[in-house]
Amino acid sequence: MQQDLKKSPCAKHFGNIANTIKKVGEAGFADLGNLTFTTAKNGSVTGEGALAGLGSTDSNVFSYRDNILLNSQVNWAVSLRHSGNLRRQSGAIRPCRCLAFRVNEPSMTPQQFMDLEILHEADHYNGYKNPDTLKEERALWKDCVK
Ligand SMILES: [Zn+2]
Repeated sequence: MQQDLKKSPCAKHFGNIANTIKKVGEAGFADLGNLTFTTAKNGSVTGEGALAGLGSTDSNVFSYRDNILLNSQVNWAVSLRHSGNLRRQSGAIRPCRCLAFRVNEPSMTPQQFMDLEILHEADHYNGYKNPDTLKEERALWKDCVK
């Protein structure tokens, strides 16, 4: 992923590539709580607003400072069903598939899933646009991961 960040289509998303690469390299895990997903009108399951809870750059969470954190409640290695809140009720979801739906793909690999989520958080940290918008998340997917 660090190599992808240096390529111009991907690099144009971020303000300071060296700094972004450093942050991505330091990405870690923390328990960020239950995932929250909802069902869109077309039937696809997606993050509820921007707050699916896959990751965070929140500097206030657990007193980390501007660190990129992935939710340790997610099984990132395989696309397993995962318990979370669906329509505010407990249910089984596949976060990997949910993110694929978000970027208009039938599926994505676990590696792509993790890369996209780390880049999403890096975009919050040091990006020009808001990755919580579908437009920017799909551009990140296309320019950096796909
Ligand atoms: Zn976000």
